[in-house]
Amino acid sequence: MNRKARRLHAANQRMRLALMNQRSCGQCRECCTSLPVELENGVKPAGAVCEHLRALPEKGCAVYEDRPHGCRIWRCVWLAEPNTLTGDERPDRLGVVFDCRPTALDMTVILARESWPGAWRTGPVQAAVRRLAENNVVMLVSGDSEHGTFVEHERVGPKMLLDRWTERVVSWEEKHREEVSA
Ligand code: SF4
Ligand code: SF4
Repeated sequence: MNRKARRLHAANQRMRLALMNQRSCGQCRECCTSLPVELENGVKPAGAVCEHLRALPEKGCAVYEDRPHGCRIWRCVWLAEPNTLTGDERPDRLGVVFDCRPTALDMTVILARESWPGAWRTGPVQAAVRRLAENNVVMLVSGDSEHGTFVEHERVGPKMLLDRWTERVVSWEEKHREEVSA
């Protein structure tokens, strides 16, 4: 094989690997229910099925070409970080959508949103959570984190990050109290 052929072969290999690493949502539509979404007529709350989500056999977004900006850019951890979760841990199979986002406390956390109550306690979810929590704060939440009305039920992660999170929550609460009483 000459140099040009080798270069082409290497480029093909790289492209093949990149394609193998790509994921697509397939039949999953979990975020169309789990997440709050800014629609044209107001906010769809977390946990409510989006009015544009079509049922089987047409399962999918009825306004796909004109879907809101938030829907276009949002990716769950399974989709955005293929190295962190296995193919079998796709949200519709797992029953939990992992949502990685920066917070007002200047720390990125992974929010776990159950598709059905109790999904967080199942073996496959706990295995995924243990892996994610090696390097991240992972929180089981319900409600609308986008608009500050979410409830946190459980929090796991490395002690150092959990302590840092607690410190920031405490200092944010103190600052908030001072602002209210001023
Ligand atoms: S939860 Fe993730 S995999 Fe499922 S539809 Fe949304 S982005 Fe795609
Ligand atoms: S507008 Fe479409 S993509 Fe966005 S949440 Fe609704 S069904 Fe899903």
